[in-house]
This record gives sequence, structure tokens and C-alpha cells, in this order.
Amino acid sequence: DTVHAPVVILGTGLAGYGLAREFRKHDADTPLILITSDDGRSYSKPMLSTGYTKDASANDLAQMDAGSMGKQLKASVWTMTRVHAIDTDNQLIKVGDAQTAVHYSKLVLAVGADVIRPPIEGDGLDMVYSVNDLLDYDDYRTAMSKHKVKKVCIIGGGLIGCEFTNDLLNGGFDVEVVDPLGYCLPTLLPEPAGKAVQAALEEQGAVFHFGPLVTAVNQRDGGVTVSLNNGQSIHADLVVSAVGVRPRVDLAQATGLTVNRGIATNRLLETSAKNVYAMGDCAEVDGHVLVYVAPLMAQARALAKTLAGEATEVSYPAMPVTIKTPTCPVVVAPPAADAQGDWQIEVDGSDVRAEFRGADGSLLGFALTGDATKAKIALQKELPPIMA
Ligand code: FAD
Repeated sequence: DTVHAPVVILGTGLAGYGLAREFRKHDADTPLILITSDDGRSYSKPMLSTGYTKDASANDLAQMDAGSMGKQLKASVWTMTRVHAIDTDNQLIKVGDAQTAVHYSKLVLAVGADVIRPPIEGDGLDMVYSVNDLLDYDDYRTAMSKHKVKKVCIIGGGLIGCEFTNDLLNGGFDVEVVDPLGYCLPTLLPEPAGKAVQAALEEQGAVFHFGPLVTAVNQRDGGVTVSLNNGQSIHADLVVSAVGVRPRVDLAQATGLTVNRGIATNRLLETSAKNVYAMGDCAEVDGHVLVYVAPLMAQARALAKTLAGEATEVSYPAMPVTIKTPTCPVVVAPPAADAQGDWQIEVDGSDVRAEFRGADGSLLGFALTGDATKAKIALQKELPPIMA
């Protein structure tokens, strides 16, 4: 019966393993199963975009294998196992070939986010890499050395694109970046701050193409030609696609759970089905989709208590995001989408201090670059919580 059935967590990223760790602080005995479609190695995903700066292979980044994680967490970790279907009425999940069914008392979806793949044509798509987990990272590093890559074209000038740009420049590679919008980190930063990041990366040798879309990648002389919709083309040895991520909702959708931009939950992380929860990049918590580490840690702490019998809502303090572009450091706390106010911006070379303030003068968000990032702690204290 369900009383003795295990707690099952789908996913062994920072969300799945983070939750398991927190849960074991409150409950040492309830059987715990973690199921993952990858190899279950634990690693810190943010390290994937600093690999050349730190000269780290996929093996270097792996902290522990699935077996050691299982031992440490007193859990059973099933690797290379994809979950295809969930029967929420009978509290069963179907794994692998769907012949195996596992009963759960509580089920947590921590299945992460998918990369967005822009529609690109051509015969060179084999050379387009996106790096969203440790296995991807291994493939990318292997291709970089196998093809003796000297020049990389990056699709996307947002957070991940700019981090890869800085990292590849640190690694001694030539980098050209394409983004349809007008400057670096356009969805996170006001223009003067984004321009400061752009100028700093250009100073290190990066070449930016703002405005056009990539339409095709074709093979050429052992490398590729990247075609843009403004008629220009870029020659490179390898392409990194960094267009963004979206919550992985296919399994939840097929299960009939309520899905908006992410798998919809309340502040207890409960989905629309009984005893099924969601957290991490795949979740939309009370309307918030935040694909960063700090929110998933807050979720893990709250949900661990809930699963151990003490219903606990998650709350979010202000959580500024640090962008790993050391050539021009960036910290940003974007204002809420519906926030009313104006940017007040001071620019001093690559040091930009941008404060988003409401009509009453209250601070609702900020963006800092260069030396201005030193104001982070003071400004963070002034911000309202994201979800009180
Ligand atoms: P994931 O780590 O993606 O884990 C998902 C898990 O679900 C995997 O184990 C997968 O195998 C499993 N899975 C998926 N589908 C199934 C299925 N059907 N059946 C079984 N298992 C399944 N955030 C920051 O706050 N700061 C940073 O500096 C930062 N840098 C980043 C740099 C890069 C390059 C990237 C890609 C992201 C970065 N982020 C950063 C975001 C942060 O890393 C993520 O928010 C976080 O790692 C998400 O963890 P997760 O466990 O929700 O998802």
C-alpha cells in the first residue's frame, strides 16, 4: 500500500539531488528512489560555462557517480532510465520499456529544462552543439579537440552565450556571436549595461552580429559556414547554440497535469495531481519560472519538510543573478514583469550602475557591471522579496 511506498524523485540535477539531501536531514528511513535519464553523476551545472577558463574536462566536473550518491543519500539511483508515463490515479510510474511500474507515495518532478533549438537548415548541423548537461559538455569538449577548433560561432548573446564567449576567449579561441536583438544580455539588462559587457568582450577579441537570425549551417573545408538572414555569413570550426531554455513539460503534459510556461505548482510545490510535486527548472511556482540555482535551493528546503510531514510553503527573497563574464562582471536583479517604474542609470566606462525605482523611490530591481558590482550587497538589502 502507499504508506510503505517510496518517495520517488525524477531527475538527478541540482534540484533532484538537492531535494534528496535536504529530505534526508528530516527523514532517514523512508525509502527513496531517484530516477534519471542520464548517468546520474552529480555536478554543478553552472560550471559548464567556465570549462576552458578552469581547464576542466567532464570528468573533472563530475563530483560523484550515481552509486556513491545513492550510498550517501541512502537512496536507490536508477540511471539511463527514462520515465514515459505516470498513472496519478494509482500512483504508479512506468519506466524504460514501460513494462516496469513503480509505486510511489509521493512523486517529485525535477526534470529540468530543454534547450530551445532555433530552426536552422543545412548539412552542417552535426557541428552545432548545445551544452545543457554533463553528457552534452563531454560531447562538446571532445568535438573541440577532435576537430582542432580555433574559431567558434555562438548563436545567442544572452546569459549562456555571453558566458561561453568569455570562457572561449579565455581559452584562446576566436569567437563570433549572433543575436537578433541589439546588445549583450538584452532580456536581462538595460541597454547601457549590455553595451558595457559587449565593449569589454570586444576588447578581448569577440565579434558581435546584432540584428540578424542564423538561418543555415553548412559544411565547408572541414569547418562550417553560418548563414545569416541579412546576407552575411561567418566561417567557423564549430557552432554553439545558446538560445535559451524552456521548462521540460512533456511528461507532465502527457500525464494531464496543469502546465503553463512550466509545470504549475502552488507554494507547497504541489502540482494539480495528488501527491505529485514539481521543482527546479521544470516548475512554475505560483506563476514564477526562475531557471537558476538559488530558487531551487529554497524549493528543496521547503519541499523536504513537506515530504517529511510538515507542510511548508516556499518563499523567495531577492535573488540577484551573477553572470560569469569576468572580463566585465555582471550582477542583475531584474524587476518583476509587471513592476511600474524607471531605470536610473550611471555610466562610467565599463562600470554601469542601473537602478529600477518606483514612483515612490523604492528600489524594484538593479543591474550592475564592472566595479559597480561592488554595490550588490547594499542594493540587495533594499529590494523587496520576489515571493514573500
Ligand atoms: P537539470 O540539471 O537539467 O536536471 C534534470 C534531470 O532530469 C536530469 O537528471 C535528467 O536526466 C532528468 N530527466 C529529464 N527528463 C526525464 C525523464 N523523462 N525521466 C527521467 N529523468 C529525466 N544558474 C545560476 O543560478 N547561476 C549560474 O551561474 C548558472 N550558470 C549556468 C550555466 C549553464 C551553462 C547552464 C546550462 C545553466 C546555468 N544556470 C545557472 C542554471 C542552473 O544550472 C539550473 O537552473 C539548474 O542546474 C537546474 O537544475 P535542475 O535539477 O532543475 O535541472
